[in-house]
Amino acid sequence: MGRNALDHQLGQPYTHAVPLRDDFPEEVKRIVAARVGNQCSNPDCRALTSGPQIDPTKALNVGVAAHITAAAPGGPRYDPSLTPEERRHPDNAIWLCQNCAKLVDNDPARFTVDLLRKWKAEAEKGASEQIGKTAGAVPRTGAERLPLHIDRPQPLTRTPLSRLLRPYNAFIDLMGREPELESLATFCDHPGALRWKVLTGAGGVGKTRLALEVAMPREQTGWDSGFLDAESLKQWIGHNRFADWRPPTDTLVVIDYAASKLEELKHLLERCAQWAQDHTGPERLRLLLLERQADPDNGWLQALLSFGEGGLRDQVRDSMEPVQEIRAPGREAPDELMEVILRATFEGWARLPGDPPPPLPKLDGQELRELRRRTEGRPLFLQMAALRACAENDTSKLTQWGQEELLEDAVGRERDYLKRECGGDSTRVTLVERGVALLTFTGPMAREDPR
Ligand SMILES: [Zn+2]
Repeated sequence: MGRNALDHQLGQPYTHAVPLRDDFPEEVKRIVAARVGNQCSNPDCRALTSGPQIDPTKALNVGVAAHITAAAPGGPRYDPSLTPEERRHPDNAIWLCQNCAKLVDNDPARFTVDLLRKWKAEAEKGASEQIGKTAGAVPRTGAERLPLHIDRPQPLTRTPLSRLLRPYNAFIDLMGREPELESLATFCDHPGALRWKVLTGAGGVGKTRLALEVAMPREQTGWDSGFLDAESLKQWIGHNRFADWRPPTDTLVVIDYAASKLEELKHLLERCAQWAQDHTGPERLRLLLLERQADPDNGWLQALLSFGEGGLRDQVRDSMEPVQEIRAPGREAPDELMEVILRATFEGWARLPGDPPPPLPKLDGQELRELRRRTEGRPLFLQMAALRACAENDTSKLTQWGQEELLEDAVGRERDYLKRECGGDSTRVTLVERGVALLTFTGPMAREDPR
């Protein structure tokens, strides 16, 4: 670092040591700055260190060639084994903004020689990748928002019925999930830079809806929050600056069907772990993975946990929270909750244009047992049963439909909708679009384990 800054920091007595200081020659400072594109080398800062002055013949410099090992005995990270030439060599300099230069010299225990060397190497690598590229193609710093999305509710009608069941349409309120919401809030608010966890649960139990209800309010309080789909994830991993990527703010990433994205997740988690190791700022990064099942000692999760090596792999493991299984909601009074879900679905149907639904019958203990046996209390199937009863204007079989029957009925209705919607050949595009929507809707079910 420059003499003025050092004197300012260390105070008067240090000026007596000036003759012994191995300061960097101007040429070394210029080279060190240029090698990192005049940006601070702290990955959490990357401030631009040069700019114009009002005088058009002058430029402003707020950067410092800081010593990785100190210029004089008693200074931060001083290494007596180096020769004065080595101490003045560009190898011993890291380009930082003034703030970061102070930071690293005030806390040499935290900002070790190894860490500074790593920053330097990464900053130089980043600069060499950016050189000659347009600003549009490459962000100036690694701080970049992930392409997260949260689907917004669409205007609803009674057909297609499947649309009523998509989680983001929130056809009925989330019910009986207070304990899960609480534990996920704790997960997000954990002080650690990186935390990740897996939510498991059977199809239709409401994992996606739950994740949505966690992601939405976070977005409203300034987090980058939402779902990262397969295509975006793949592109992100392939991004030429992925190795430098860091979240610019608190970030919650939800990834559905995690097992099908194993390869991408390995690299994403490795990068997140690397970021967490170097991270000194306040930003938090949370990954929430959704999958039918997950076992740390088996299958996809084991593969994820054994990827990479050494410190990074340990970091990935240490930042993982226990797998949380999501069961049918309503721990306290599960049968009551089934009825509440049925009633809410009937009420939702009544709000949509069309004839009023039949009255929801009062179910006795036997009927509730039957309903539980057939739907396993999963909200998706309870809603399917309620919607089918509404659509057929007949509640007599409400507790008699099994999951497969309900799915078949739903797919049949979707097909009828497609036929009506498309008419002739001319609407193939719509047909394809609806087909994709149908797959989206039924896809998760097709992978259901036979029981
Ligand atoms: Zn800085």
